[in-house]
Amino acid sequence: MQTYLVVGGAGYIGSHMVKALLGRGHEVITLDDLSKGHREAIVGGDVIEGDLGDRELLGSLFSSRRVDCVMHFAAFSLVGESVEQPLAYYLNNTGKTASLLLAMKEHGVGRFIFSSTAAVYGEPESVPIMEGAATEPTNPYGRSKLTVEKALADCETAHGLRYATLRYFNAAGADPSGAIGEDHSPETHLIPIVLQAASGKRESIAIFGDDWDTPDGTCVRDYVHVNDLVDAHILAAEHLLSGGESLTCNLGCENCYSVREIIDISREVTGREIKAVVTPRRPGDPARLVASSEKIRNQLGWRPSFDDPRAIIETAWKWHSEHPEGYSS
Ligand code: UDP
Repeated sequence: MQTYLVVGGAGYIGSHMVKALLGRGHEVITLDDLSKGHREAIVGGDVIEGDLGDRELLGSLFSSRRVDCVMHFAAFSLVGESVEQPLAYYLNNTGKTASLLLAMKEHGVGRFIFSSTAAVYGEPESVPIMEGAATEPTNPYGRSKLTVEKALADCETAHGLRYATLRYFNAAGADPSGAIGEDHSPETHLIPIVLQAASGKRESIAIFGDDWDTPDGTCVRDYVHVNDLVDAHILAAEHLLSGGESLTCNLGCENCYSVREIIDISREVTGREIKAVVTPRRPGDPARLVASSEKIRNQLGWRPSFDDPRAIIETAWKWHSEHPEGYSS
């Protein structure tokens, strides 16, 4: 049994992580400022409400508790917002992560799992994207994450930190129990918005452009179930805790599904008519983002159990239909 600090454990992916770690018998401490997350989403373990940039708080936590591994999910993640407020992104995503890493270094906590993003690649030259592809983010969000990736390598050289950087593609779905799920405010992601249109919470879904260079003209993405993401973190942590080397891996399924395909599958899953309206492209969207997942499969033995979007959308629909208003807090 290990002790994990889950930073951002009240958020969408963090809350699934906390549940999975507890389910495997680990001790879990969640640190979250609850600015975007939901207390209700934390199913157990210890909870500290606070800021990851608060060195004093982190210092007293690391002095009083042995922490084997830190998993860091707390970040701002809206591309458009990052263009309008770049400093908020550099401060929160980059600066506060540096502060967390400093507190870890001062207290000898040497294992770190970092939630990075496909946005570090920018507009890919080809798909599926391999980890060695050029990293040229097209927005401050991607740059705020890529800077942390570089800092992690520097910390390894200087202080011997061992880390796993996981570059997420499109996280989706919900825990099959229906107890926890995705609840962002405002919601910007495709699948929850499509399901809100299915449940009548929205009148329609806007398709951001149907003139892309893709088979049906709508953008293609690689959707990964949130619990498969979580499993990859557990494998990465076990790898580091058993003395494995630092690594950077894509976290996608090599699935290619277009916006129109996701809407069609959602119509089948929900049995509802979902009105879709084509609107202009959303600035900053690449046409296709599909991961090569070869590295994580080979190095960590990761095998996603939800390998098609129908199964992913079914779990998301269970959460949405049982919690039409999301969390109550
Ligand atoms: N999308 C859309 N309408 C929406 C939200 C998203 O057409 O209301 C498209 C978006 O342009 C992208 C895909 O759905 O091509 C996935 O978008 P999402 O925001 O879920 O994830 P991203 O790929 O931007 O991380």
